[in-house]
Amino acid sequence: LYRTEFLYLNQPTPPDEEAQLRIYRRVLKRLAGAPLTIRTLDLGADKQPTTAGDTGGPNPALGLRAIRYCLKELPLFRTQLRAILRASAFGPVRLLVPMLTNLSEVIQVRQLVDELHRELLHRGVRCAKEIAIGGMIEIPAAALCAEQLARHLDFLSIGTNDLIQYTLATDRIDDEVNYLFDPLNPGVLRLIAMTLDAGRLTGTPVAMCGEMAGDPQYTRLLLGMGLTEFSAPPSTLLEVKRIVTESDAADLRRKVRPLIEDAASRDLAGALEALNLETAPPP
Ligand code: PEP
Ligand code: MG
Repeated sequence: LYRTEFLYLNQPTPPDEEAQLRIYRRVLKRLAGAPLTIRTLDLGADKQPTTAGDTGGPNPALGLRAIRYCLKELPLFRTQLRAILRASAFGPVRLLVPMLTNLSEVIQVRQLVDELHRELLHRGVRCAKEIAIGGMIEIPAAALCAEQLARHLDFLSIGTNDLIQYTLATDRIDDEVNYLFDPLNPGVLRLIAMTLDAGRLTGTPVAMCGEMAGDPQYTRLLLGMGLTEFSAPPSTLLEVKRIVTESDAADLRRKVRPLIEDAASRDLAGALEALNLETAPPP
């Protein structure tokens, strides 16, 4: 996952198309054929720009952020989409849209991408023939309507940092309410399960790119829930990968199903600890 807002933060001016293209090409070169998921600009709330205008508003976390901001600042968004489309000529690129609220946003992004793609090809600019467009499930309504969204997207990615924040009405960066920020909250697990079900039902791949996916204590639980694509930071990547390769996913699915079905009435943290101990191979 390439979080592109970092190209815009603390810069005197937003990066233009050529500058972005150079950066995406460099990343693709380093990846040497592995796919690159470029997330479109996710400015706002805890990621305030210094250059791209004011995205504060009375309640920044519920305000003009991420795709909402991009669909309002169309010249800025078009520049980024053109750079991503052009980068797709140099390696496998997928485009990921953050903070989807409804289907209308998906349709608007698809129309824009199609229009810019056609324009670039018409001008003889090299781009891949097709570019996969995915949506982030970070808002409870998107998880509840994941099936409908999935029918218009090529993949989904669950952003648990925001999904937990919005489901539990708990600011992800406020230490005072940190104790409520719980990936094991039954409501959060139910939304994750619904998203994974929507993926299975529609044949749409579902990834997870929130911190939960990179935390080894949740790897077996998520495997058991049916997650097959984990995005982890370098610090825990090897540990998560080790657990995935050592695990028996079918066995985990059998063990995790009753935990999720009955999540509201049990000590899930304790049950997860037991699952992790029980299914870990002997040292
Ligand atoms: C998330 O919300 O889980 C996510 C991956 O996005 P970010 O943390 O960058 O908001
Ligand atoms: Mg997010």
